[in-house]
Amino acid sequence: MIRTEAEAAALAEVAMDAGVTPDDLRDLLDRIRGAPPLDAEGLPFAPCRVCLGRDFWKPAALPIEGEGWRCAACVPPPKAGGRHACSVPAGRAP
Ligand SMILES: [Zn+2]
Repeated sequence: MIRTEAEAAALAEVAMDAGVTPDDLRDLLDRIRGAPPLDAEGLPFAPCRVCLGRDFWKPAALPIEGEGWRCAACVPPPKAGGRHACSVPAGRAP
């Protein structure tokens, strides 16, 4: 768990020294947070890379297409508030 800005900065420095790019870090964070891979239209198209779950959601305030989708198993949606939902067919996570 990263608890302070200083810890986060120190970790980022270690990652950069190891040749990890910001895009790599973003991809890693997406995986940790249960963000699915998105197709060209910005919709989930494959199971969650963490748990292989096939149901995704995002707050209704966000547009349907694009970033913001989260796996319903890894990141359960809040009980209150509108949301978009999307299920993908069974298959292998990329
Ligand atoms: Zn998941």
